[in-house]
Amino acid sequence: RGLLAVRGVSKDYTSVHGETVHALDDVNLTVDEGEIIAIIGPSGCGKSTLLRMIAGLDDDYDGEIAWERPPRPGRDIGFVFQEPALLPWRTVEGNVRLGIEVQKERLDRADERVATLLELVGLSGFAKSFPKELSGGMRQRVAIVRALAYDPRILLMDEPFGALDAITRDRLHDDILRIWEETRKTIVFVTHSVEEAAYLADRVVVMSPRPGRLQAVHQVPLDRD
Ligand code: ADP
Ligand code: ADP
Repeated sequence: RGLLAVRGVSKDYTSVHGETVHALDDVNLTVDEGEIIAIIGPSGCGKSTLLRMIAGLDDDYDGEIAWERPPRPGRDIGFVFQEPALLPWRTVEGNVRLGIEVQKERLDRADERVATLLELVGLSGFAKSFPKELSGGMRQRVAIVRALAYDPRILLMDEPFGALDAITRDRLHDDILRIWEETRKTIVFVTHSVEEAAYLADRVVVMSPRPGRLQAVHQVPLDRD
């Protein structure tokens, strides 16, 4: 079942020197419910831009992003950045809880949900810790489950493992697969790593750095089983 379709999306930026940068040029992509898509391509080819447009973080573009059902802002889209961006004055559970506090009707079961999410990524023992007491990988795991706390329809991640060492990254990969097994969440993530894309994704979208020529249409379906 389709979740969303990116249709003919183009995005221009104006650089600090006043030049027009074609970040996206007639990009087409469909995302089905429950699939894991990796977006891969060289630096500057527009991966982050595409993710931001899908997230609704910027709606100044040409073309259309059509959802099966319109997403509710701040709830249906979970976003994870390369840097975890946790609130330093909140504990781990306080940070994850932040994701639930936007949904007031769910507050009564918030503690239970936070506990479940932390368990999913092996951080139950760190619920009362503060972000600065955690390793980079642990912080990113907190950021990921915080993004899931909304119970969003899609999880978007922009190079979520880029800043981590190899061992931590492997650990995170397995966390992502476990989260997917549990939630069957639609996941779209940006990566520089072919290996990472092949390990995690059902489908790899290769973006070309050549505006004006076919962009984001080389799609490689993978069979992970
Ligand atoms: P990627 O994520 O693939 O590295 P980006 O989406 O970040 O690529 O950037 C695509 C192009 O758009 C690049 O040329 C980049 O320099 C430019 N760009 C991105 N954001 C801005 C911005 N806010 N202002 C001007 N140019 C930008
Ligand atoms: P707070 O102000 O409590 O931090 P926000 O509403 O700013 O909460 O958003 C929390 C997180 O949800 C942010 O990390 C942001 O990336 C994500 N988010 C919020 N609104 C949207 C949206 N419309 N689309 C995608 N992500 C969103």
